[in-house]
Amino acid sequence: AKEQGVNKFKVFNKAMHEKALKSLLIETEIRQGIPENEFFPYFQPVYCLHSKRLAGFEALVRWNHPQRGFLTPDQIIPVAEETGLIVELDRMVMLEACHCLSSWLKRHPAASDLFLTVNLSPSQLSKPDLAEAIEKILYDTGVSSKNIKLEITESAIMERNTASSQNLKRIEEMGIKLAVDDFGTGYSSLAQLQRFPASTVKVDRSFVSRMAEDHESLEIVRAVNALGHSLSMDVIAEGVETRQQLILLKQIGCDYVQGFYFDKPQTKEDAEKLVKMRAEG
Ligand code: C2E
Ligand code: CA
Ligand code: CA
Ligand code: CA
Repeated sequence: AKEQGVNKFKVFNKAMHEKALKSLLIETEIRQGIPENEFFPYFQPVYCLHSKRLAGFEALVRWNHPQRGFLTPDQIIPVAEETGLIVELDRMVMLEACHCLSSWLKRHPAASDLFLTVNLSPSQLSKPDLAEAIEKILYDTGVSSKNIKLEITESAIMERNTASSQNLKRIEEMGIKLAVDDFGTGYSSLAQLQRFPASTVKVDRSFVSRMAEDHESLEIVRAVNALGHSLSMDVIAEGVETRQQLILLKQIGCDYVQGFYFDKPQTKEDAEKLVKMRAEG
């Protein structure tokens, strides 16, 4: 039995060792991939339930890896967060997404009220140069701050410090809107949400995906919607996959929806086709 214990320990150690090596490899690859432009955004459409029209897009990072092909955020974000590379990565995604939005709106000016939401990693929020970096991206791409929303997860809004508060203040002054992402998964209080200067709250996919079968999930979606509206915020439900979920969300009075029932995240070319249709319709 003792020997078995020793072996188990070795196996555990080896697995940990492999995991560390793999992270190191990915870290190196991310570092090399950034200047090679291997990272780019996909765009998932967001629809307005009141007007029934396209309202905007969420930019989601993808990796065109030279050997392993097309990779998704679960293969990128955790290592990028751990190593701090996420800061540069997020900024690249934002720059490229703003470039896209800028050229779409030039070609289809009737869609000028579309919004673009960009995910901001929690570590980004306390970087002293964040507001300046965003200002530069908007200036360089010619995108107006009124078309941009930054998504910050509920868990990140709870860890506020002086730097993050200053950033939020400057971002607000620039006229950029904020959205609280994955709401319902953190443990923020009503007071914390009220103090946070967001215009939008996004109901986490886990509740939306269970709402048709699970009464508690349905009640949570209802409560988050009511909470958002009581604070004058717009409410986006994400991860809508079925018609039944859509019907429930309409009944509840949710403002925007996003999910595979409508569209998966897509290339900039496919996203532009939707912008064109929206501009013409
Ligand atoms: P998120 O911000 O909650 O983004 C929504 C995720 O849900 C996306 O996954 C999207 O593809 C997926 N999704 C949307 N609708 C549906 C649906 O109906 N069903 C299902 N099953 N999934 C749906 P994705 O693109 O894999 O991104 C995962 C997470 O990675 C994001 O979750 C976000 O937290 C993070 N992420 C993505 N891009 C970036 C980025 O540029 N920067 C940072 N910091 N994080 C990012
Ligand atoms: Ca998001
Ligand atoms: Ca989310
Ligand atoms: Ca999520």
